Amino acid sequence: MKVKSPLEIYNYLPRTNCGECGYETCMSFAAHVIDRSAKITDCKPLVEEAEKDPKAKKNLEKLLELTAPEIVEIVVGTGNSAVKIGGEEVLHRHELTFFNPTAFFYDVWDTMDDKEIDERCSKVVEYKKFYVGEFLTLDGIAVRCTSNDPKRFREVVKKVSGYGKPMILVSLDPKCMKSALDEVADKKPLIYAATPENWKDFLKMALDYKVPVVLRSKDLQTLKSMAKTFKEAGVTELVLDPVTEPIGEGLRSTFERVIQIRRSAISAGDKDLAYPIMVTPIVAWLIDGDDVSKAYWEAVIASTFIVKYADVMIFRSLDQHVVMPTVILRYNIYTDPRTPVQVESGLRMINDPSPEDPVFITTNFALTYYTVESDLTSGNIKGWLLVLDTEGLGVEVSVAGGQFTASKVKELIEQTKISEKVNHKYLVIPGLAARLSGAIEDETGWTVLVGPLDSGRLKGWLEKHWPPKK
Ligand code: SF4
Repeated sequence: MKVKSPLEIYNYLPRTNCGECGYETCMSFAAHVIDRSAKITDCKPLVEEAEKDPKAKKNLEKLLELTAPEIVEIVVGTGNSAVKIGGEEVLHRHELTFFNPTAFFYDVWDTMDDKEIDERCSKVVEYKKFYVGEFLTLDGIAVRCTSNDPKRFREVVKKVSGYGKPMILVSLDPKCMKSALDEVADKKPLIYAATPENWKDFLKMALDYKVPVVLRSKDLQTLKSMAKTFKEAGVTELVLDPVTEPIGEGLRSTFERVIQIRRSAISAGDKDLAYPIMVTPIVAWLIDGDDVSKAYWEAVIASTFIVKYADVMIFRSLDQHVVMPTVILRYNIYTDPRTPVQVESGLRMINDPSPEDPVFITTNFALTYYTVESDLTSGNIKGWLLVLDTEGLGVEVSVAGGQFTASKVKELIEQTKISEKVNHKYLVIPGLAARLSGAIEDETGWTVLVGPLDSGRLKGWLEKHWPPKK
């Protein structure tokens, strides 16, 4: 984004403080545009004026240009399942945040039989992993044309589109690609790929069907020149594929190309390279070896480029040992460092507890909370769980940083009225908060039992320590 301060945006706004955008003042709206929680087009008076008055239209265009992300953001697919890729502002997550998580696509190919295609598509659609309070899912399906038969490719693309997920259509043959686009262009697939050999046909298709297109070349000057040509012709929804090479020297040079593209775009302001980047971990399946080592390398390649700077990826393996680490890594890289992942503080009842059951306390850092909650639930432990507001920090850090204190524990005990729900005054605190035990006893009048360092050991710990000896 070219502008850095809300004031620079405010000057272009109607400044009537009408509140139609959902914010009380134009200045507040401008601040939300800066942190990307609001879009310029959310200011309806500005948009309506631009429709009537050419001068206002210019003003709006200028504002859109000033607030456009450093990396072009494009949308693949339509409706609720559409996925945004690109749209990043910074090279390093801690400088602001990353915005659009790397989109994961899984391949099917048109020489598979229909049953296999259905099985793979269903796996992609149905995948769901619960992690720190959210369901992590997969984004889309890449349909590869391996038959070289336009009719078969079109049939398979039609079948896959029935699953409602965004698609990447993969064929270097313009005839096959055109046949597929005749069927599903309205679903806004990403087409893969324009190369120095076929780019004229792909440019025409991108213009005719209004679909985003991947440009592919190992040579960055060629990639840049294709991007310039497409942009001048009116195609701006572009993705750059600098060609992923699977291992050793090839993997190293792929990494260098990806870094160079993103640095040129953000640090040097090279607009011809300021597009989302595609990386294809699926190339691991070209390596000699058994399926386990190919899947291993696929996860390694994916992990390397989730961190830097892939916006979209194509995978083969749908095995848990590839999917789970990659979706979790992606989640962690793309959480917003400005707002710790946290849950609401308060009292949770675990497994329908009675007044005799223990009272535990933990922090509201989502990862800690869900680990403790899941250990208690899955261990069939009945109990009362107090969740302390530690501003989203874990136990050790919040004890050291002063967010987990005896006085806050006292406040939480009072707020939740836990004393009225149980017939004892024993509080089990995390082992990592042991040094607060005396202070908590003094402040609250409850007897503190120091639990294990790891909530996974609570079951065994309770067998020895609960009910407490009087
Ligand atoms: Fe200001 Fe536009 Fe929001 Fe109204 S809708 S308060 S004019 S930014």
